[in-house]
Amino acid sequence: MTAQKIFQINHVENQLRASLAKMKAAYTRNPAPTEKERVDRLNRLHNAILEYKDRLIAAVDRDFGGRAEAETLMIELLPVLEGIRYNKKNLRKWMKQSKRHVPLMLLGAKTKVHYQPLGVVGIVAPWNFPIFLGLSPLVGAFAAGNRAMMKTSEFAPETGELLKEMIAKHFTDEEAVVVNGGVEVATEFTKLPFDHLVFTGSTQVGRIVMHAAADNLTPVTLELGGKSPAIVHDSFPIEEAAKRIAFGKGLNAGQVCVSPDYIMVPRAKVDAFVEAFAKSFVSHYPSLKDNRDYTSIITERQRDRLLDNVRDAEEKGASVITINPTEDSFEGTKKLPMHVIKDVSDDMRVMQEEIFGPLLPIVPYDTLDDAIAYVNDRDRPLALYYFDWDKRRAEKILKETHSGGVCINEVMTHTMVDDMPFGGVGPSGMGHYHGKEGFLNFSKAKGVVRKGRFDGNALIGAPWGNRLYNLFINFQLRRFKKI
Ligand code: NAD
Repeated sequence: MTAQKIFQINHVENQLRASLAKMKAAYTRNPAPTEKERVDRLNRLHNAILEYKDRLIAAVDRDFGGRAEAETLMIELLPVLEGIRYNKKNLRKWMKQSKRHVPLMLLGAKTKVHYQPLGVVGIVAPWNFPIFLGLSPLVGAFAAGNRAMMKTSEFAPETGELLKEMIAKHFTDEEAVVVNGGVEVATEFTKLPFDHLVFTGSTQVGRIVMHAAADNLTPVTLELGGKSPAIVHDSFPIEEAAKRIAFGKGLNAGQVCVSPDYIMVPRAKVDAFVEAFAKSFVSHYPSLKDNRDYTSIITERQRDRLLDNVRDAEEKGASVITINPTEDSFEGTKKLPMHVIKDVSDDMRVMQEEIFGPLLPIVPYDTLDDAIAYVNDRDRPLALYYFDWDKRRAEKILKETHSGGVCINEVMTHTMVDDMPFGGVGPSGMGHYHGKEGFLNFSKAKGVVRKGRFDGNALIGAPWGNRLYNLFINFQLRRFKKI
């Protein structure tokens, strides 16, 4: 590493540490923001989003080199506004101290749980939804009374710069700060002694981030990725399943953490599914290359990775159906047609890595138990989708598989429900945000015992064996008979 590089990194580190120190000092001066103060921060964020809406849509569009406006509105901006509304509506209830049962040992005392802001939350966002995945954790952090520093993705630099301007305009640097930069900045950022760190990104980088946080014992919420399967039951109309899956898979050209990664279809129905999927996909996107509804791949590197994975699958025996309705050439563009991949095997990269783009492997299965075993043999996914009108069988899937979240007869929309926790399990993540669980995630649930004037300990305390102690302990032991 050159001396200049070392100097730059030291400079970044010093700036980040100074920023965090300033926020921590502000937290110490006002450690318990009232509901009104929290609502005020949420309102300012609401207004900031409305003020910057058009510029944000344009910035994401430029970062992607073509991102459908409807996707930025529907999947980034509106969900943050919904989240703000939902948090404001529930805040008073969540902030209330909760009374808890007093055990006999503490007779006369009162016990309560207080929900205390943690302090300063660090947020690391990826590029695929650069607004939503930065601001949504910020909403949760603000609602719980925290301050926050947010690191945006280097692959969405225009959005990052605009978010920085927007936050600086509407918040003091003691309330919220946006940090931009590449991996070096991200590395220094995740080494900071935050009171909590939310990382959204790949499982691979998630591991590095958790190591960095461990040095400070900073608690983490890891919102990671993985291979989210969709299973279509034999009894479910295959065209209907294909239609619902095609809608979701087309969004952001498959660059979504909860995009269906591979589809499990009864063996005899693979071709029917592929045909119906293609038909439905084309009905949404009658052309691709110059279609502004169809989003580009974020970088050439990502595009090359996806194409390499298609080639790798073909070389290992897969058959690939390219859905390219107007038979465009994609040379020199950042767009990629949808590739449905049949005859896949475990040695193909498309069956090992998260897809994160417009590729869709089809995995045939014979029995539902086989499909469940296939899913359970692999890392626990971020989402699982099951298509079946039969509630009993759906219940079996829910009980016998693990995943961050589930949609039945649907894909992806569970992420839009503010009143439910969102997060992965195992390699797809840990911790939750959204819902009351999000508020709890960003709060310290502090148990508090308040003792009154009466001091029972003084009556039964050592020397043990005194009369009151004997009475107390005999009474207690009688309560706990063998079951
Ligand atoms: P990524 O892991 O490459 O990067 C995410 C963030 O981490 C970026 O801000 C980046 O600057 C930072 N980073 C990179 N290297 C780092 C390091 N060594 N130390 C600390 N920080 C570092 O992910 P990506 O390519 O931006 O996003 C795609 C991934 O994110 C996919 O795996 C996807 O499934 C996942 N994702 C998950 C969710 C979710 O909610 N669970 C949502 C969106 C995306």
